[in-house]
Amino acid sequence: MRRPLVAGNWKMNGSRADNSKLVEALVAGDPGADGAEVLLCPPFVYLWEVGRLIRESSLALSGQDLCAAASGAHTGEVSGAMLRDVGCRYVIVGHSERRSLYGEDDQAVARKYVAAQREGLVPILCVGESLAEREAGHTEAVVLRQLQAVLEVAGAASFAAAVLAYEPVWAIGTGKNATPDQAQQVHALLRARMAREDAIMAASLRILYGGSVKAANAHELFSMPDVDGGLVGGASLNVEEFLAICRAAG
Ligand code: PEP
Repeated sequence: MRRPLVAGNWKMNGSRADNSKLVEALVAGDPGADGAEVLLCPPFVYLWEVGRLIRESSLALSGQDLCAAASGAHTGEVSGAMLRDVGCRYVIVGHSERRSLYGEDDQAVARKYVAAQREGLVPILCVGESLAEREAGHTEAVVLRQLQAVLEVAGAASFAAAVLAYEPVWAIGTGKNATPDQAQQVHALLRARMAREDAIMAASLRILYGGSVKAANAHELFSMPDVDGGLVGGASLNVEEFLAICRAAG
């Protein structure tokens, strides 16, 4: 049995005042009540404070990114140990915005994945194709290549302590989600690839879908057999939407 997981990626949004309103309302709504594990992924500067706000709740904390290096001369960066120190259990790696806006290639993402596990964090590894790649029929090749880069560096056994997220780039922040069948097709492909390495690990690996998940489509998406929850951007900033998504996953 895979416990469903929903992660709310706030991206670069929020303020101390907005966050406390949002988090207090979320905690009151108990988004994990139906069984899903629920994570909040605020910007770095708010992690500590959000961590305190969710201390008495079932919510957990995740970073949005981390530095591959352990410490030292990396101005502006945040290490996995620092994320752990402020209460994170998870961290997103390889989000498409990191790949496209900040030049993170498959190898850089793999280094971050390894760094996360080295520090005891569970990486949420994002893979996904662009619209041009989908239209050219390259979806499978792209997601398998992105996964392969991590498999080569970290090994298949590492996925016993990781989460995968399929996030088609054309669906992120666009309001245009993948259909449940499109999502299922890629999720099944990813699971089958992992099963070639280790069938038991693959059967327990959680694979999240991300890309314009909202209350109106969450149930349909999460009903697919290989979709184990969601990585939610925009809708995670809206209390009612996010609570409904978490309920749909549970
Ligand atoms: C995301 O931030 O990973 C994401 C999927 O965003 P949105 O839900 O807004 O498409």
